[in-house]
Amino acid sequence: MLGLKLLQLPFHLGGLGLRESQRSSHPAFLGSCNSARFLVSRLAPNFDVTSFFPDENCAISYFQSLSILPSNLSSQNDLQASLDDQLFASIFNTSTIRDQARLRAVAHSSGVSSGWLKAIPQPTLGLAFSPHEFVIAVRLWLGVPLFPLLPLCTCLSVIDQFGDHLLGCSHGPLRIQCHDALVSIVHHALLQDHPGVLREQSIASDQSRPGDIYHPDFTLGRPAYFDLSVRCTTQPSFISAAASKAGVAAAAGEGAKDDHYLETVNNHGGDFFPLVCESFGVWTPFALSTLSTIADRTTVKSGIPRQFARKQLLQRLSVTLWRYNAKMILRHYGLCPEDGIDLLN
Ligand SMILES: [Zn+2]
Repeated sequence: MLGLKLLQLPFHLGGLGLRESQRSSHPAFLGSCNSARFLVSRLAPNFDVTSFFPDENCAISYFQSLSILPSNLSSQNDLQASLDDQLFASIFNTSTIRDQARLRAVAHSSGVSSGWLKAIPQPTLGLAFSPHEFVIAVRLWLGVPLFPLLPLCTCLSVIDQFGDHLLGCSHGPLRIQCHDALVSIVHHALLQDHPGVLREQSIASDQSRPGDIYHPDFTLGRPAYFDLSVRCTTQPSFISAAASKAGVAAAAGEGAKDDHYLETVNNHGGDFFPLVCESFGVWTPFALSTLSTIADRTTVKSGIPRQFARKQLLQRLSVTLWRYNAKMILRHYGLCPEDGIDLLN
């Protein structure tokens, strides 16, 4: 039932944009009235425009019955957004803590979480799901129970029906592969900025490896170390806080990384860049800012517009993250043997 309600919300609020036509008809009618009113009044100055829209009050009454005052009648989008916000609030206020945490994450204001839903499928760019991956990803996105049978995790914990444990368990399948796939995308982008970019470069003096990617000259001639990690949005220790604020788990992960490596890297004249995201797609503000900078740097060679480069990088990361979320579930349940080769990629 929750999933059915969520279907109607737009991507940026955690839905799939499949609106009921009845619910969209009122904003569509009022939007078209207001679009036409100006034109009609110019074409026929002496015509009583208000008499031309006899059902307008009816549509406005509909909004008033929902306790929404359609203050701005200039566009269908504005009116529809009011309905969407109200539906989101009603779903959120009647959800469990777990679903509230998930909704906060997928409806995060950055809009990055839903990047995978807006990406045009392009297998050669890694922007495509297999059919089975997509079905599982949509179930995770909507918070729909995954499967009736719940075998134990390899860590012997009981797996919940939403798959949260599998996305967060350190023993879970494909977690390292997911991390490596995300690192590979950032590595590829940085290579377009500098040919000396390397994976897992250690600091010479103590052989520690503070990051997944090393850039010899990222800021004002200083070397940079980028470290990427994925934190589970619904891990038990953060779920209560995550229900009130998006990105809590990612922020904690970023803090832990900072404490660990920042001083070491700074002592060696370098900069440390933790790139932390959550399983449902929220990145920390610092990570988003850093990824935007990386995307901007790629445009020097590629010549593509900055906004496009940023969108492309974030979408590739989003698609990869959600593909691996689905892969982790599929792998554990031993499902979809026809996708066996794909699951290993
Ligand atoms: Zn486990």
